[in-house]
Amino acid sequence: MVGTPATPLCKVQRTPAMTPGGGPKVREEKILVTVRMRPLNQREQAMYDLIAWDSVDDHTIVFKNPNHERPANQYSFDRVFDPSSSTRKVYEDGAKDVALSALTGINATIFAYGQTSSGKTFTMRGITENAVKDIYEHIKNTQEREFVLKLSAMEIYNETVVDLLNRDSGCLRLLDDPEKGTIVEKLVEEVVKDSQHLKHLIGICEAQRQVGETALNDKSSRSHQIIRLTIESSLRENAECVKSFLASLNLVDLAGSERVSQTNADGVRLKEGSHINRSLLTLTTVIRKLSGGKKSGHIPYRDSKLTRILQNSLGGNARTAIICTISPALSHVEQTRNTLTFATSAKEVINNAHVNMIISDKRLVKHLQKEVARLEAKLRTPEPTSASCLQSLLMEKELKIQEMEREMEELKRQRDIAHSQLEQERKARKVQKGLNQRGPSSKGVRCLFFDSEPVPGSPDARPRKTVGRYSTLRQSTTSTDPSTLVHEIRKLEQRQRQLGEEANRALEVLHKEVSSHRLGNKETAEAIAKMLFEIKDMQAISSIPEDVMIGNGANLKEEITRLNSQGCTIESLEKKLENVQKSIDILVSSISNGEETPEFKTQMKKKKILPFTLKNSTNMQNIIRAPCSPLSSSHKIMEQDIENKAPEDNENVSSRSHKSPGSFKTPPSKADARQVSSREGTPSTKQTNSVDVKKMQRMFKNAAEENIRSIRAYVTELKERVAKLQYQKQLLVCQVLELEEAKESETDDAESDLQSPMPWHMVFEDQRKQIVMLWHLCHVSIIHRTQFYLLFRGDPADQIYMEVELRRLTWLEQQFAELGNASPALLGDEPAGLVASSIKALKQEREYLAKRVSSKLTVEERELLYLKWDVPAVGKQRRLQLVNKLWTDPLNMQHVQESAELVAKLVGFCESGINVCRHT
Ligand code: ADP
Ligand code: MG
Repeated sequence: MVGTPATPLCKVQRTPAMTPGGGPKVREEKILVTVRMRPLNQREQAMYDLIAWDSVDDHTIVFKNPNHERPANQYSFDRVFDPSSSTRKVYEDGAKDVALSALTGINATIFAYGQTSSGKTFTMRGITENAVKDIYEHIKNTQEREFVLKLSAMEIYNETVVDLLNRDSGCLRLLDDPEKGTIVEKLVEEVVKDSQHLKHLIGICEAQRQVGETALNDKSSRSHQIIRLTIESSLRENAECVKSFLASLNLVDLAGSERVSQTNADGVRLKEGSHINRSLLTLTTVIRKLSGGKKSGHIPYRDSKLTRILQNSLGGNARTAIICTISPALSHVEQTRNTLTFATSAKEVINNAHVNMIISDKRLVKHLQKEVARLEAKLRTPEPTSASCLQSLLMEKELKIQEMEREMEELKRQRDIAHSQLEQERKARKVQKGLNQRGPSSKGVRCLFFDSEPVPGSPDARPRKTVGRYSTLRQSTTSTDPSTLVHEIRKLEQRQRQLGEEANRALEVLHKEVSSHRLGNKETAEAIAKMLFEIKDMQAISSIPEDVMIGNGANLKEEITRLNSQGCTIESLEKKLENVQKSIDILVSSISNGEETPEFKTQMKKKKILPFTLKNSTNMQNIIRAPCSPLSSSHKIMEQDIENKAPEDNENVSSRSHKSPGSFKTPPSKADARQVSSREGTPSTKQTNSVDVKKMQRMFKNAAEENIRSIRAYVTELKERVAKLQYQKQLLVCQVLELEEAKESETDDAESDLQSPMPWHMVFEDQRKQIVMLWHLCHVSIIHRTQFYLLFRGDPADQIYMEVELRRLTWLEQQFAELGNASPALLGDEPAGLVASSIKALKQEREYLAKRVSSKLTVEERELLYLKWDVPAVGKQRRLQLVNKLWTDPLNMQHVQESAELVAKLVGFCESGINVCRHT
């Protein structure tokens, strides 16, 4: 049970457009009045009563005058039902249309009016039954709408209103609401679940009805009963539509309309009768007044409870049907006449029904809640598309910024390199000036390297035996043909190009390999991203112009300038290779956490993995600092490289020697020679390359980690080769310089030619001492020292290498001196970058060599060496102590010799191998 129901009247909203059937906004309609005449009942039959009325047609009823004393009275109504008419027929023709209006938002009221025992209750019971049936039929057929039915019922007895669904609530008050009109206070409104429930509720109402005994009818009721069915309906699907139909159907079974005088009532009955009369009297008055049209003046609705409650149904916002029940008996003629008179009045009353639309609070709240939720959701997460769009845009921007930052870094780096190159050239110029003290002769040299005026008498205090040097130069240059040099430059360019291409190929493979890796690790992902960027960057810079026309000796300067200008490319290639390698290292370490390199090394050896068919890639684990290029910080050299390569090397060297005996007979390192010669575009090389690709493809099917390691090894090798190329380039530059110088000196001062040259062996010894000292001062790699020392031992062909090394070291030492403004060997704790890195690298190299002491030397050998090199018998890190003593005394040539021998042994240089290479 629910609380006080809202009287539909009060909720009414005038929205006429919604009137079903496209009718007028406000339907002006007369009350539907029908007359039902029941058959003669048993009592009447028993008293031989006569049938006084005759329904001549469906609309007319006529009083049958048995005496023909008076002309027949004739009454016309919307419908007249004779005694044979079924209740269904009465419902169909006299109530259905009005009753079902309530389903479409139009209030409806069905009255049964008539004297006691005329059949009001009988008829209304039938009407109610039929209406309930049809209402549920309609609901069933109108699935698009949701219907809510509520039932309330009241009884007006002695002008008191009683709740038939809750008789305990006693007499209910009528309240006047300015908006809602008259409402019955505390009237229970029961929500109806279904038709059965409704029938059950109606049954309760019937049982509760006051029944009194009268002389006329045993079961006649003295009260008015109003069953009110409230029907609210709304569209199910349209959540936006918050409006609902709301209407009530009043089924009114009135008390008997007979006059009080006709009842044989005592006091109480009289009182009852008068009360009944009052409500009925007011009803008849209201109907009479309403039937007279608008000019009728005041309508006394408020005179009775009944008319107050049903005000809407009497000339107001409702469709109304009145079924007047009559007895056919002649004995009730007067009452029947009264009823027919009332009915005649009633049919003139005009109602103004309209569709009642309400905005249901519940529905509105629900709708608003939904809307609020939707807006809140929208606020929280703007537009899903725009949000993700913004996010991706931001990320894109972020990436662009990062890329730009990297580009800026790279540009800065290149600028710094350019700066240092300029610096380098300035220094070289100073050196050059020191060398070319013969004035005009220096011009030719100068124009190759310098763009500014030489500073006369600049301090160049390097203790040099210039006479010896010059004679050496003369010796070397006389055997150097300009065209051969051009040829050499071409070759060098080609190698440079090939190296770039090869690096690209390897990087492409690496790129694919790395891309194919799906490693969730964030660190790895970052490493990969970084590497991919570097690789891309590298591929872009390592393309070197190919279409170089073969010139002649006259373009030698241009050639060398061009080659020199490519130095930057080579250097950045080298630098980038280094970066890539670092990235690979990070990647490898993140892939195989804790996997040690030696393990991998042995694994590699066992499996004989030779990536890219480069034999020396297998043993790249030994990181050795080679000083060939100041930029190359680490080089990996094969231990047995020289031995392995000796025969091939010999072939190359000899074939070249045949072509140009006076030219570049041997590159500075045998390994270099092999590297270079194997990359000179011979058919065999091409074959090797194609095999490489296949091998690569096969390899990449195998363990990905191993592949990356292999690529790392290969990158290392590329780095090494780039460094070697750099070295060769320097040599070439020097040779061109010498050639120029020789030309100058030939034309300028022929007499110097006559000067008796210093014997080569003396010049060699002198240069070697200088070089050893410079090595020491510049913290040059002791492996390089060893290599160089053992490789160049006074052969006339060594002149050019000695000269280049000397020049390079001189430059380096000047750099150091400039940086530290002091002798680099004496620098404090914080030497400038170049010095610091050299010292650090040397330290690492010594640590590396110390580790090899145990593996390369027997216990006896070690003990002997400790003794010889004054390493204390007891102490920590004896091996390192030993290595730290090597190459420390540049003035003691015996010390130098022994240092070189020991280092060669530790690194695995085979002296005999070197010798074999050198002397073929
Ligand atoms: P009222 O409510 O007007 O006092 P009732 O509905 O109680 O009268 O009817 C009195 C009696 O007449 C009931 O026994 C009822 O069954 C019977 N009756 C009324 N109308 C008809 C009818 N049309 N056909 C058959 N019997 C009827
Ligand atoms: Mg009755």
